[in-house]
Amino acid sequence: MKLPTLAVHAGDRKKPGDYIPVTTPIHGAASYVYEDIEDLDRVFGGERPGMMYGRYGNPTVEALEEQIAALEGGDFAIATSSGMAAIHLALQAALLDRRKSIVAAKVLYGQTLTLLMSVLEPGGIEVEFADPCDLQAFEATIAEAKPAVVLVETVSNPLLRVSPLDRIAEIAHAHGALVIVDASFTSPALLQPLSLGIDIVVHSATKYLAGHGDVLGGILITREEFRPALRVLSRSLGPNMGPFEAYLTMRGVKTLPLRVERQCQNACRVAAWLKDHPRIDRVYFPGDPAHPDHDTVKRLFANGSGGAMVSFELKDAGREQIFAFLNALKIVVRATSLGDVHSMILHPVMSSHRDLAPRHRERLGIRDNLLRLSVGIEAVEDIVEDLDQALAESA
Ligand SMILES: *Cc1c(COP(=O)(O)O)cnc(C)c1O
Repeated sequence: MKLPTLAVHAGDRKKPGDYIPVTTPIHGAASYVYEDIEDLDRVFGGERPGMMYGRYGNPTVEALEEQIAALEGGDFAIATSSGMAAIHLALQAALLDRRKSIVAAKVLYGQTLTLLMSVLEPGGIEVEFADPCDLQAFEATIAEAKPAVVLVETVSNPLLRVSPLDRIAEIAHAHGALVIVDASFTSPALLQPLSLGIDIVVHSATKYLAGHGDVLGGILITREEFRPALRVLSRSLGPNMGPFEAYLTMRGVKTLPLRVERQCQNACRVAAWLKDHPRIDRVYFPGDPAHPDHDTVKRLFANGSGGAMVSFELKDAGREQIFAFLNALKIVVRATSLGDVHSMILHPVMSSHRDLAPRHRERLGIRDNLLRLSVGIEAVEDIVEDLDQALAESA
């Protein structure tokens, strides 16, 4: 079955009795009773499937897990309370009985860097950083550090560099390392990392998967061999997603392929328009043939798409002009997060990259006049018109 079909059908229509709900209901119960205590005994003993306690499993959450596992082509999934919880769980699972060493992409989501440097490193885990878009340097770091785990993102924030996941998987496996990828910026509608050799995929479900700005959640998808470790970890750490969030996420995912298709088309138009605008210095868009990773994008992304994120620099703009531009926007929402149905814009220097020293930001190539746009599903003419009037208003 193809992705849009799986998104609409996978996980639903389990049979609780002699009727079948068309969509999966919200199961709020924390624990479960059976007609006979012998049955509960068998469920605890693993002799028959069934529910016993919310932290061990919930029918609504399991339906979502089945849906996402189907979209990613994984054996199973574990939904979590946030994207950060999914990243932590994946790292714990991959490190459980292996060398306590990680090689990570040097540009990562801010809290992922904090998790590595302020939580895992002080806990005795070695962490080295390298640039996954420079494969030679990346392999050299892996050869030297001999990590158990390599951690990368599909697309980096905010400069939107695209990791060559297939090559990274080859290199990491040749050196005995597992690869975890944070695919929040792409979603399974753009690429399925497991099919490229990646071992564990994680998402902030808050972004494209849920897609409506009303859920905080995460999910991890992987192969059967990691199930025992993940069962122990998820039961003992308790990072579970709740049934209400699972319900909303599952509902959101049914339209994921449709939404992302529209968002990518819109982003392509918006990026081309920005590129021609006299007040825009530079546009960062993976769908642009001039983008440094365009070959990787063409090889890995579905349907020749360049994704739905566009970053750009406002010519000669200081904080005052940037803020005037942002305040003048009427449709595009000035807020953190991404992947929602509405277009959203963010100034990385005041938000995601606020705590970095200016010199460090400069070294990363993140300028003070950079803005990051997550393109929504609105009519593209309205998005462009809004950007246009805000640029005029703030000139
Ligand atoms: C948002 C985000 C996260 C964190 O997800 P939460 O759901 O906010 O915990 C991790 N990685 C990336 C790439 C993100 O965009």
